[in-house]
Amino acid sequence: MSVIYHPQKYKLEDLPMQNFIDSDEIWEILKRNENPTPERVREVIARSLDKHRLSLDETAVLINANTPDLIEEIKNGARELKERVYGKRIVLFAPLYIGNLCVNNCAYCGFRTDNKKQKRITLSSEEIRAEVEMLEDSGHKRLILVYGEHPKYDAAFIAETVRNVYSVKKGNGEIRRVNINAAPMDIEGFKVVKDAGIGTYQVFQETYDRNAYLKVHLGGKKRDYDWRITALDRAQEAGIDDVGIGALLGLYDWRFEVLGLLRHVNHFEAVYNVGPHTISFPRLKKASGFEVKPEFDVSDEEFTRLVAILRLAVPYTGMILTAREPAHIRDEVLQFGVSQIDGGTNIEMKGYSSKKDQQDLDHEQFTIGDNRTLNEVMEELLGHGYLPSFCTACYRLKRTGEHFMEFSVPGFIKRFCQPNAMLTMAEYLEDYAPAETREKGYKLIAENLKDYQDEQFREKLIDRLERVKKGERDLYF
Ligand code: SAM
Ligand code: SF4
Repeated sequence: MSVIYHPQKYKLEDLPMQNFIDSDEIWEILKRNENPTPERVREVIARSLDKHRLSLDETAVLINANTPDLIEEIKNGARELKERVYGKRIVLFAPLYIGNLCVNNCAYCGFRTDNKKQKRITLSSEEIRAEVEMLEDSGHKRLILVYGEHPKYDAAFIAETVRNVYSVKKGNGEIRRVNINAAPMDIEGFKVVKDAGIGTYQVFQETYDRNAYLKVHLGGKKRDYDWRITALDRAQEAGIDDVGIGALLGLYDWRFEVLGLLRHVNHFEAVYNVGPHTISFPRLKKASGFEVKPEFDVSDEEFTRLVAILRLAVPYTGMILTAREPAHIRDEVLQFGVSQIDGGTNIEMKGYSSKKDQQDLDHEQFTIGDNRTLNEVMEELLGHGYLPSFCTACYRLKRTGEHFMEFSVPGFIKRFCQPNAMLTMAEYLEDYAPAETREKGYKLIAENLKDYQDEQFREKLIDRLERVKKGERDLYF
Protein backbone atom coordinates (compact mmCIF):
# COMPACT_ATOMS: atom_id res chain seq x y z
CA MET A 1 0.00 0.00 0.00
CA SER A 2 1.26 3.47 -0.81
CA VAL A 3 2.40 5.82 1.93
CA ILE A 4 -0.10 8.62 2.14
CA TYR A 5 1.30 10.75 4.90
CA HIS A 6 3.08 13.94 3.81
CA PRO A 7 5.13 15.14 6.80
CA GLN A 8 6.11 18.33 5.02
CA LYS A 9 2.45 19.34 4.73
CA TYR A 10 0.77 18.15 7.92
CA LYS A 11 1.54 17.47 11.51
CA LEU A 12 1.11 13.82 12.38
CA GLU A 13 -1.49 14.60 15.05
CA ASP A 14 -3.63 16.16 12.34
CA LEU A 15 -3.84 12.83 10.53
CA PRO A 16 -4.78 10.10 12.96
CA MET A 17 -5.00 6.58 11.49
CA GLN A 18 -4.75 7.95 7.97
CA ASN A 19 -4.15 4.53 6.45
CA PHE A 20 -7.47 2.99 7.31
CA ILE A 21 -8.61 2.69 3.68
CA ASP A 22 -6.62 0.00 1.90
CA SER A 23 -7.91 -0.56 -1.64
CA ASP A 24 -6.16 -3.90 -2.04
CA GLU A 25 -7.71 -5.16 1.16
CA ILE A 26 -11.20 -4.11 0.05
CA TRP A 27 -10.85 -5.83 -3.33
CA GLU A 28 -9.49 -8.93 -1.63
CA ILE A 29 -12.52 -9.04 0.70
CA LEU A 30 -14.89 -8.69 -2.24
CA LYS A 31 -13.08 -11.46 -4.11
CA ARG A 32 -12.91 -13.99 -1.30
CA ASN A 33 -16.67 -13.73 -0.77
CA GLU A 34 -17.68 -14.22 -4.40
CA ASN A 35 -20.56 -16.57 -5.25
CA PRO A 36 -21.89 -17.07 -1.73
CA THR A 37 -24.29 -19.95 -1.12
CA PRO A 38 -27.92 -19.01 -0.32
CA GLU A 39 -27.36 -20.42 3.20
CA ARG A 40 -24.44 -18.09 3.80
CA VAL A 41 -26.45 -15.08 2.57
CA ARG A 42 -29.34 -16.01 4.87
CA GLU A 43 -26.96 -16.50 7.78
CA VAL A 44 -25.63 -12.95 7.29
CA ILE A 45 -29.13 -11.45 7.02
CA ALA A 46 -30.12 -13.26 10.22
CA ARG A 47 -27.07 -11.92 12.01
CA SER A 48 -28.03 -8.40 11.10
CA LEU A 49 -31.64 -8.97 12.18
CA ASP A 50 -30.14 -10.08 15.47
CA LYS A 51 -28.85 -6.49 15.60
CA HIS A 52 -25.19 -7.21 14.99
CA ARG A 53 -23.12 -4.79 13.01
CA LEU A 54 -21.85 -6.73 9.98
CA SER A 55 -18.17 -7.24 9.29
CA LEU A 56 -16.60 -6.31 5.96
CA ASP A 57 -16.63 -9.96 4.93
CA GLU A 58 -20.29 -10.39 5.82
CA THR A 59 -21.20 -7.25 3.92
CA ALA A 60 -19.23 -8.51 0.92
CA VAL A 61 -21.38 -11.67 1.02
CA LEU A 62 -24.50 -9.52 0.59
CA ILE A 63 -22.86 -7.44 -2.14
CA ASN A 64 -21.99 -10.63 -4.04
CA ALA A 65 -25.48 -12.16 -3.75
CA ASN A 66 -26.64 -11.67 -7.31
CA THR A 67 -29.72 -13.83 -7.89
CA PRO A 68 -33.14 -12.09 -7.90
CA ASP A 69 -34.39 -14.31 -5.05
CA LEU A 70 -31.46 -13.53 -2.77
CA ILE A 71 -31.67 -9.82 -3.58
CA GLU A 72 -35.33 -9.91 -2.59
CA GLU A 73 -34.41 -11.63 0.68
CA ILE A 74 -31.85 -8.91 1.38
CA LYS A 75 -34.48 -6.23 0.74
CA ASN A 76 -37.00 -8.01 2.96
CA GLY A 77 -34.37 -8.26 5.69
CA ALA A 78 -33.69 -4.52 5.45
CA ARG A 79 -37.43 -3.78 5.62
CA GLU A 80 -37.78 -5.85 8.74
CA LEU A 81 -34.74 -4.32 10.39
CA LYS A 82 -35.88 -0.81 9.64
CA GLU A 83 -39.26 -1.50 11.21
CA ARG A 84 -37.62 -3.00 14.29
CA VAL A 85 -35.00 -0.32 14.85
CA TYR A 86 -36.54 2.85 13.46
CA GLY A 87 -40.25 2.14 13.43
CA LYS A 88 -42.28 4.23 11.03
CA ARG A 89 -40.46 7.47 11.73
CA ILE A 90 -38.87 9.51 8.91
CA VAL A 91 -36.98 12.66 9.82
CA LEU A 92 -37.43 15.63 7.46
CA PHE A 93 -34.97 18.42 6.72
CA ALA A 94 -34.14 20.94 3.97
CA PRO A 95 -30.84 22.01 2.41
CA LEU A 96 -29.98 25.70 2.22
CA TYR A 97 -27.19 26.76 -0.13
CA ILE A 98 -25.29 29.69 1.38
CA GLY A 99 -22.65 30.33 -1.28
CA ASN A 100 -21.40 28.79 -4.52
CA LEU A 101 -17.97 30.42 -4.77
CA CYS A 102 -15.47 27.59 -5.09
CA VAL A 103 -11.73 27.28 -5.58
CA ASN A 104 -11.88 23.56 -6.29
CA ASN A 105 -12.33 21.83 -9.58
CA CYS A 106 -14.49 18.79 -9.01
CA ALA A 107 -15.33 17.64 -12.55
CA TYR A 108 -18.88 16.63 -11.59
CA CYS A 109 -20.01 19.77 -9.76
CA GLY A 110 -21.66 22.87 -11.24
CA PHE A 111 -19.81 25.01 -8.68
CA ARG A 112 -16.32 23.99 -9.90
CA THR A 113 -14.03 26.95 -10.43
CA ASP A 114 -13.63 26.27 -14.19
CA ASN A 115 -17.38 26.52 -14.78
CA LYS A 116 -17.54 30.11 -15.98
CA LYS A 117 -21.26 29.83 -16.74
CA GLN A 118 -22.12 29.42 -13.08
CA LYS A 119 -23.48 32.62 -11.54
CA ARG A 120 -21.61 33.10 -8.28
CA ILE A 121 -23.62 34.21 -5.31
CA THR A 122 -23.01 34.41 -1.59
CA LEU A 123 -26.14 35.07 0.42
CA SER A 124 -26.00 38.21 2.55
CA SER A 125 -27.20 38.10 6.12
CA GLU A 126 -30.59 39.52 5.02
CA GLU A 127 -30.87 37.05 2.15
CA ILE A 128 -30.21 34.16 4.52
CA ARG A 129 -32.95 35.46 6.79
CA ALA A 130 -35.38 35.68 3.86
CA GLU A 131 -34.64 32.07 2.85
CA VAL A 132 -35.00 30.82 6.42
CA GLU A 133 -38.32 32.63 6.86
CA MET A 134 -39.64 30.88 3.75
CA LEU A 135 -38.45 27.53 5.08
CA GLU A 136 -40.01 28.18 8.48
CA ASP A 137 -43.24 29.19 6.77
CA SER A 138 -43.40 25.80 5.10
CA GLY A 139 -42.87 24.00 8.43
CA HIS A 140 -39.17 23.10 8.52
CA LYS A 141 -37.26 22.86 11.80
CA ARG A 142 -34.01 21.23 10.63
CA LEU A 143 -31.67 22.58 7.96
CA ILE A 144 -28.38 21.63 6.42
CA LEU A 145 -26.35 24.60 5.23
CA VAL A 146 -24.20 23.96 2.16
CA TYR A 147 -21.11 25.92 1.08
CA GLY A 148 -18.59 25.85 -1.76
CA GLU A 149 -14.94 25.89 -0.71
CA HIS A 150 -13.54 29.41 -0.73
CA PRO A 151 -11.34 31.57 1.54
CA LYS A 152 -14.42 33.74 2.09
CA TYR A 153 -16.22 30.76 3.65
CA ASP A 154 -13.84 30.29 6.55
CA ALA A 155 -14.88 28.90 9.93
CA ALA A 156 -15.82 32.35 11.28
CA PHE A 157 -18.08 33.00 8.26
CA ILE A 158 -19.74 29.59 8.58
CA ALA A 159 -20.26 30.09 12.33
CA GLU A 160 -21.83 33.48 11.66
CA THR A 161 -24.26 32.07 9.10
CA VAL A 162 -25.24 29.27 11.52
CA ARG A 163 -25.95 31.80 14.29
CA ASN A 164 -27.90 33.91 11.84
CA VAL A 165 -30.13 30.96 10.90
CA TYR A 166 -30.83 30.10 14.55
CA SER A 167 -31.81 33.69 15.26
CA VAL A 168 -34.62 33.79 12.65
CA LYS A 169 -38.05 33.31 14.24
CA LYS A 170 -41.23 33.80 12.27
CA GLY A 171 -44.62 33.12 13.88
CA ASN A 172 -44.23 29.75 15.56
CA GLY A 173 -41.39 29.01 13.17
CA GLU A 174 -37.81 28.45 14.23
CA ILE A 175 -34.90 26.33 13.12
CA ARG A 176 -33.91 24.07 15.96
CA ARG A 177 -31.05 22.19 14.38
CA VAL A 178 -28.53 23.48 11.85
CA ASN A 179 -26.24 20.90 10.26
CA ILE A 180 -23.50 21.87 7.84
CA ASN A 181 -21.94 20.40 4.71
CA ALA A 182 -18.75 22.36 4.20
CA ALA A 183 -15.14 21.83 3.17
CA PRO A 184 -12.80 20.17 5.69
CA MET A 185 -11.26 22.52 8.26
CA ASP A 186 -8.37 22.32 10.68
CA ILE A 187 -9.05 21.52 14.33
CA GLU A 188 -9.21 25.18 15.32
CA GLY A 189 -11.75 25.87 12.58
CA PHE A 190 -13.93 22.97 13.67
CA LYS A 191 -13.91 24.35 17.22
CA VAL A 192 -15.22 27.66 15.90
CA VAL A 193 -18.16 26.07 14.06
CA LYS A 194 -18.88 23.77 16.99
CA ASP A 195 -19.24 26.81 19.23
CA ALA A 196 -21.91 28.18 16.89
CA GLY A 197 -24.03 25.15 17.85
CA ILE A 198 -23.97 23.02 14.70
CA GLY A 199 -25.74 19.65 14.79
CA THR A 200 -24.02 17.28 12.37
CA TYR A 201 -20.86 18.14 10.43
CA GLN A 202 -21.19 16.32 7.14
CA VAL A 203 -18.55 15.81 4.49
CA PHE A 204 -18.46 13.15 1.78
CA GLN A 205 -15.31 11.37 0.71
CA GLU A 206 -16.95 11.18 -2.75
CA THR A 207 -14.93 8.07 -3.65
CA TYR A 208 -12.81 5.95 -1.34
CA ASP A 209 -10.59 4.87 -4.24
CA ARG A 210 -7.49 7.04 -4.42
CA ASN A 211 -7.06 6.85 -8.21
CA ALA A 212 -10.68 7.48 -9.02
CA TYR A 213 -10.52 10.39 -6.58
CA LEU A 214 -7.60 11.99 -8.44
CA LYS A 215 -9.34 11.56 -11.81
CA VAL A 216 -12.23 13.86 -10.88
CA HIS A 217 -10.74 16.24 -8.32
CA LEU A 218 -8.70 18.20 -10.77
CA GLY A 219 -7.54 21.14 -8.72
CA GLY A 220 -7.74 23.04 -5.45
CA LYS A 221 -7.40 21.79 -1.92
CA LYS A 222 -9.98 19.09 -2.43
CA ARG A 223 -7.58 17.24 -4.70
CA ASP A 224 -5.79 16.15 -1.53
CA TYR A 225 -7.40 12.81 -0.62
CA ASP A 226 -5.63 12.64 2.73
CA TRP A 227 -6.81 16.02 3.92
CA ARG A 228 -10.37 14.96 3.17
CA ILE A 229 -10.31 11.41 4.53
CA THR A 230 -9.06 12.75 7.86
CA ALA A 231 -11.53 15.66 8.04
CA LEU A 232 -13.93 13.91 10.37
CA ASP A 233 -11.09 12.86 12.66
CA ARG A 234 -10.17 16.51 13.08
CA ALA A 235 -13.83 17.30 13.70
CA GLN A 236 -13.86 14.66 16.45
CA GLU A 237 -10.65 16.04 17.93
CA ALA A 238 -12.36 19.44 18.02
CA GLY A 239 -15.23 17.94 19.99
CA ILE A 240 -17.76 17.47 17.16
CA ASP A 241 -18.97 13.96 17.92
CA ASP A 242 -21.89 14.07 15.51
CA VAL A 243 -20.57 13.58 12.00
CA GLY A 244 -21.91 12.36 8.64
CA ILE A 245 -19.99 10.40 6.00
CA GLY A 246 -20.88 9.76 2.37
CA ALA A 247 -19.84 8.48 -1.06
CA LEU A 248 -20.89 10.05 -4.34
CA LEU A 249 -22.07 7.04 -6.31
CA GLY A 250 -21.05 6.98 -9.96
CA LEU A 251 -17.37 7.82 -9.57
CA TYR A 252 -16.21 4.25 -8.97
CA ASP A 253 -17.53 0.71 -8.45
CA TRP A 254 -20.41 0.90 -5.94
CA ARG A 255 -19.38 -2.42 -4.37
CA PHE A 256 -16.05 -0.91 -3.43
CA GLU A 257 -17.69 2.26 -2.10
CA VAL A 258 -20.05 0.33 0.18
CA LEU A 259 -17.07 -1.38 1.80
CA GLY A 260 -15.20 1.95 1.88
CA LEU A 261 -18.07 3.49 3.83
CA LEU A 262 -18.11 0.55 6.18
CA ARG A 263 -14.37 0.76 6.70
CA HIS A 264 -14.83 4.42 7.58
CA VAL A 265 -17.51 3.47 10.14
CA ASN A 266 -15.17 0.82 11.61
CA HIS A 267 -12.43 3.39 11.94
CA PHE A 268 -14.71 5.68 13.89
CA GLU A 269 -15.94 2.97 16.17
CA ALA A 270 -12.40 1.77 16.83
CA VAL A 271 -10.90 5.19 17.52
CA TYR A 272 -13.75 7.21 19.03
CA ASN A 273 -16.01 4.48 20.32
CA VAL A 274 -18.86 5.90 18.26
CA GLY A 275 -19.87 5.51 14.63
CA PRO A 276 -20.85 8.38 12.37
CA HIS A 277 -24.37 9.62 12.99
CA THR A 278 -25.36 9.39 9.33
CA ILE A 279 -24.36 7.88 6.00
CA SER A 280 -25.23 9.50 2.68
CA PHE A 281 -25.05 7.81 -0.72
CA PRO A 282 -25.95 10.43 -3.33
CA ARG A 283 -26.01 9.32 -6.96
CA LEU A 284 -24.19 11.54 -9.40
CA LYS A 285 -26.54 13.85 -11.32
CA LYS A 286 -26.19 15.97 -14.42
CA ALA A 287 -24.66 19.36 -13.62
CA SER A 288 -24.00 22.44 -15.72
CA GLY A 289 -21.33 21.35 -18.27
CA PHE A 290 -21.21 17.78 -16.96
CA GLU A 291 -22.92 14.54 -18.02
CA VAL A 292 -22.67 11.38 -15.94
CA LYS A 293 -20.47 8.75 -17.65
CA PRO A 294 -21.96 5.27 -17.86
CA GLU A 295 -18.73 3.59 -16.68
CA PHE A 296 -19.68 3.42 -13.01
CA ASP A 297 -23.29 4.41 -13.38
CA VAL A 298 -25.37 2.88 -10.60
CA SER A 299 -28.66 1.56 -11.97
CA ASP A 300 -31.91 1.88 -10.03
CA GLU A 301 -31.76 -1.83 -9.34
CA GLU A 302 -28.22 -1.59 -7.94
CA PHE A 303 -29.05 1.55 -5.99
CA THR A 304 -32.06 0.11 -4.20
CA ARG A 305 -30.05 -3.04 -3.47
CA LEU A 306 -27.13 -1.13 -2.01
CA VAL A 307 -29.39 0.88 0.30
CA ALA A 308 -30.78 -2.39 1.67
CA ILE A 309 -27.24 -3.77 2.10
CA LEU A 310 -26.09 -0.66 3.96
CA ARG A 311 -29.11 -0.87 6.26
CA LEU A 312 -28.24 -4.44 7.18
CA ALA A 313 -24.53 -3.66 7.55
CA VAL A 314 -24.94 -0.74 10.00
CA PRO A 315 -28.29 -1.18 11.75
CA TYR A 316 -27.90 1.85 14.04
CA THR A 317 -26.55 4.46 11.66
CA GLY A 318 -28.95 7.04 10.24
CA MET A 319 -29.23 6.89 6.44
CA ILE A 320 -29.92 10.02 4.42
CA LEU A 321 -31.57 10.13 1.03
CA THR A 322 -31.93 13.43 -0.82
CA ALA A 323 -34.09 14.93 -3.53
CA ARG A 324 -31.40 13.97 -6.05
CA GLU A 325 -33.50 10.81 -6.35
CA PRO A 326 -36.92 10.85 -8.07
CA ALA A 327 -40.04 10.28 -5.96
CA HIS A 328 -40.54 6.64 -7.01
CA ILE A 329 -37.01 5.64 -5.96
CA ARG A 330 -37.36 7.59 -2.73
CA ASP A 331 -40.61 5.82 -1.96
CA GLU A 332 -39.09 2.42 -2.63
CA VAL A 333 -35.93 2.79 -0.55
CA LEU A 334 -37.77 4.41 2.35
CA GLN A 335 -39.08 0.94 3.04
CA PHE A 336 -35.71 -0.59 3.61
CA GLY A 337 -33.70 1.67 5.62
CA VAL A 338 -33.68 5.38 5.01
CA SER A 339 -34.21 7.41 8.16
CA GLN A 340 -33.93 11.00 6.90
CA ILE A 341 -35.07 12.73 3.72
CA ASP A 342 -35.29 16.32 2.55
CA GLY A 343 -38.63 17.78 1.52
CA GLY A 344 -39.67 20.84 -0.45
CA THR A 345 -36.07 21.04 -1.64
CA ASN A 346 -34.73 23.90 -3.72
CA ILE A 347 -30.99 23.97 -4.35
CA GLU A 348 -30.93 27.15 -6.39
CA MET A 349 -29.15 30.07 -4.78
CA LYS A 350 -31.87 32.19 -3.12
CA GLY A 351 -34.27 29.55 -4.45
CA TYR A 352 -36.76 29.43 -1.56
CA SER A 353 -37.54 33.12 -1.63
CA SER A 354 -37.53 33.48 -5.45
CA LYS A 355 -40.11 30.66 -5.80
CA LYS A 356 -39.13 29.65 -9.34
CA ASP A 357 -40.31 26.18 -10.21
CA GLN A 358 -37.93 25.56 -13.13
CA GLN A 359 -34.35 24.54 -12.41
CA ASP A 360 -31.57 26.70 -13.84
CA LEU A 361 -28.32 24.75 -13.80
CA ASP A 362 -26.26 27.93 -14.05
CA HIS A 363 -27.58 28.88 -10.63
CA GLU A 364 -27.13 25.56 -8.91
CA GLN A 365 -25.03 22.52 -8.34
CA PHE A 366 -26.88 19.69 -10.10
CA THR A 367 -30.37 18.56 -11.20
CA ILE A 368 -32.76 17.31 -8.57
CA GLY A 369 -35.17 14.44 -9.16
CA ASP A 370 -37.85 15.30 -6.63
CA ASN A 371 -39.25 18.82 -6.54
CA ARG A 372 -42.40 18.16 -4.55
CA THR A 373 -43.35 20.66 -1.85
CA LEU A 374 -42.86 19.74 1.79
CA ASN A 375 -46.59 19.22 2.18
CA GLU A 376 -46.73 16.93 -0.86
CA VAL A 377 -43.93 14.85 0.67
CA MET A 378 -45.79 14.84 4.01
CA GLU A 379 -48.95 13.66 2.28
CA GLU A 380 -47.07 10.85 0.58
CA LEU A 381 -45.44 9.75 3.85
CA LEU A 382 -48.71 9.83 5.76
CA GLY A 383 -50.40 7.87 2.97
CA HIS A 384 -47.85 5.08 3.47
CA GLY A 385 -48.23 5.11 7.24
CA TYR A 386 -44.89 6.83 7.97
CA LEU A 387 -44.58 9.26 10.85
CA PRO A 388 -42.84 12.38 9.55
CA SER A 389 -40.65 13.86 12.27
CA PHE A 390 -39.06 17.27 12.77
CA CYS A 391 -37.60 16.19 16.09
CA THR A 392 -34.39 17.78 17.34
CA ALA A 393 -34.55 16.65 20.97
CA CYS A 394 -31.46 14.44 21.16
CA TYR A 395 -29.15 17.08 19.86
CA ARG A 396 -30.55 19.69 22.21
CA LEU A 397 -30.43 17.35 25.22
CA LYS A 398 -26.84 16.46 24.24
CA ARG A 399 -27.82 12.89 23.43
CA THR A 400 -25.17 12.73 20.69
CA GLY A 401 -21.96 10.87 19.89
CA GLU A 402 -20.87 8.18 22.30
CA HIS A 403 -23.72 9.08 24.65
CA PHE A 404 -26.20 8.75 21.84
CA MET A 405 -25.12 5.18 21.12
CA GLU A 406 -26.41 3.94 24.44
CA PHE A 407 -29.81 5.30 23.52
CA SER A 408 -29.87 3.79 20.06
CA VAL A 409 -31.33 0.56 21.33
CA PRO A 410 -34.82 -0.80 21.03
CA GLY A 411 -37.10 0.85 23.56
CA PHE A 412 -35.43 4.21 23.24
CA ILE A 413 -36.96 4.85 19.84
CA LYS A 414 -40.41 3.95 21.11
CA ARG A 415 -40.14 6.03 24.26
CA PHE A 416 -38.43 9.07 22.84
CA CYS A 417 -38.17 9.24 19.04
CA GLN A 418 -41.67 8.06 18.17
CA PRO A 419 -43.45 10.35 20.69
CA ASN A 420 -41.25 13.26 19.63
CA ALA A 421 -42.12 12.53 16.00
CA MET A 422 -45.80 12.78 16.93
CA LEU A 423 -45.31 16.01 18.89
CA THR A 424 -43.37 17.75 16.10
CA MET A 425 -45.79 16.43 13.52
CA ALA A 426 -48.67 17.86 15.57
CA GLU A 427 -46.90 21.24 15.49
CA TYR A 428 -46.71 20.96 11.72
CA LEU A 429 -50.36 19.94 11.46
CA GLU A 430 -51.44 22.88 13.62
CA ASP A 431 -49.25 25.58 12.09
CA TYR A 432 -48.69 24.72 8.43
CA ALA A 433 -50.82 21.85 7.11
CA PRO A 434 -53.92 22.21 4.92
CA ALA A 435 -57.08 20.77 6.54
CA GLU A 436 -56.88 17.52 4.59
CA THR A 437 -53.32 16.78 5.68
CA ARG A 438 -54.20 17.71 9.26
CA GLU A 439 -56.97 15.17 9.30
CA LYS A 440 -54.76 12.41 7.90
CA GLY A 441 -51.97 13.30 10.31
CA TYR A 442 -54.08 13.15 13.45
CA LYS A 443 -55.61 9.89 12.31
CA LEU A 444 -52.15 8.40 12.04
CA ILE A 445 -51.15 9.76 15.44
CA ALA A 446 -54.26 8.15 16.96
CA GLU A 447 -53.32 4.81 15.40
CA ASN A 448 -49.78 5.05 16.71
CA LEU A 449 -50.98 5.85 20.20
CA LYS A 450 -52.63 2.43 20.31
CA ASP A 451 -49.14 0.86 20.30
CA TYR A 452 -48.45 2.20 23.77
CA GLN A 453 -49.40 -0.41 26.35
CA ASP A 454 -47.93 1.61 29.21
CA GLU A 455 -51.04 3.52 30.22
CA GLN A 456 -49.19 6.14 32.24
CA PHE A 457 -46.83 6.97 29.41
CA ARG A 458 -49.64 7.12 26.88
CA GLU A 459 -51.54 9.56 29.07
CA LYS A 460 -48.46 11.72 29.33
CA LEU A 461 -48.05 11.74 25.56
CA ILE A 462 -51.73 12.52 24.96
CA ASP A 463 -51.46 15.37 27.44
CA ARG A 464 -48.54 16.86 25.55
CA LEU A 465 -50.30 16.47 22.21
CA GLU A 466 -53.28 18.35 23.66
CA ARG A 467 -50.95 21.10 24.86
CA VAL A 468 -49.56 21.42 21.32
CA LYS A 469 -53.13 21.77 20.03
CA LYS A 470 -53.71 24.54 22.55
CA GLY A 471 -50.69 26.46 21.30
CA GLU A 472 -47.69 25.29 23.35
CA ARG A 473 -44.62 24.56 21.24
CA ASP A 474 -41.36 22.67 21.50
CA LEU A 475 -42.47 19.92 23.87
CA TYR A 476 -40.37 16.78 23.80
CA PHE A 477 -39.26 13.72 25.73
N1 SAM B 1 -18.01 22.10 -1.16
C1 SAM B 1 -18.09 21.15 -0.12
C2 SAM B 1 -17.60 19.81 -0.53
O1 SAM B 1 -17.33 19.60 -1.69
O2 SAM B 1 -17.51 18.96 0.35
C3 SAM B 1 -19.47 20.98 0.43
C4 SAM B 1 -20.66 21.17 -0.41
S1 SAM B 1 -20.82 20.19 -1.88
C5 SAM B 1 -21.77 21.42 -2.58
C6 SAM B 1 -21.88 18.88 -1.30
C7 SAM B 1 -21.84 17.56 -2.02
O3 SAM B 1 -22.55 17.66 -3.23
C8 SAM B 1 -20.50 17.05 -2.46
O4 SAM B 1 -19.82 16.46 -1.39
C9 SAM B 1 -20.87 16.06 -3.56
O5 SAM B 1 -20.96 14.74 -3.04
C10 SAM B 1 -22.26 16.49 -3.98
N2 SAM B 1 -22.32 16.74 -5.43
C11 SAM B 1 -21.52 17.57 -6.15
N3 SAM B 1 -21.85 17.51 -7.47
C12 SAM B 1 -22.86 16.62 -7.59
C13 SAM B 1 -23.62 16.11 -8.69
N4 SAM B 1 -23.38 16.49 -9.95
N5 SAM B 1 -24.59 15.20 -8.44
C14 SAM B 1 -24.84 14.80 -7.18
N6 SAM B 1 -24.17 15.24 -6.09
C15 SAM B 1 -23.18 16.14 -6.28
FE1 SF4 C 1 -16.64 23.04 -4.84
FE2 SF4 C 1 -17.78 21.17 -3.26
FE3 SF4 C 1 -18.57 21.54 -5.80
FE4 SF4 C 1 -16.21 20.48 -5.37
S1 SF4 C 1 -18.20 19.57 -4.77
S2 SF4 C 1 -16.62 22.11 -6.87
S3 SF4 C 1 -15.60 21.56 -3.54
S4 SF4 C 1 -18.76 22.96 -4.13
